Amino acid sequence: MNKRGHVLNAALLAIGLGVLVRPVPDVGTALIVAELFVPIVLGALFPDVDTAFGRHRKTLHNLPVLAVFLAYPIHFGNLQWVWIGVLSHYLLDVFGSRRGIALFYPLWSREFGFPFGVPVRSRWSPVVTLLVTAVELAAAAAVIYWLPPTMAESALALLGAR
Ligand SMILES: [Zn+2]
Repeated sequence: MNKRGHVLNAALLAIGLGVLVRPVPDVGTALIVAELFVPIVLGALFPDVDTAFGRHRKTLHNLPVLAVFLAYPIHFGNLQWVWIGVLSHYLLDVFGSRRGIALFYPLWSREFGFPFGVPVRSRWSPVVTLLVTAVELAAAAAVIYWLPPTMAESALALLGAR
């Protein structure tokens, strides 16, 4: 997926997550969306830095990099929500494009993707981006509303979000 697709995905994800967390049309919800927006968009842009440094879809498109972004809020108490953008970038590259990403790099250079992705420059790219975003938000809704409240709170606290 290109940068435009990743920004669209991240922006919609931030808005959708804000509304899922606080489904009330007020200033409190707008503040949650604002809190999520910049970190998620920055996280979604980060992996493609490897177009300039390292090997694209390998160096910054793997699970160890995601683990680093997950560790920051837990260990240092900062960079909350950036991991969501990074994870969403990976999902969009895996499900939304033909090429896939090297999830286990540097241990294994094989790129994993799904055959039903579309080429990055395809006119169907925006449609696929919206579909992937909708599935991500449905998964988030399932976690938020179907997990027992104590488990959901514990998971958010573990990630430094509460
Ligand atoms: Zn990418």
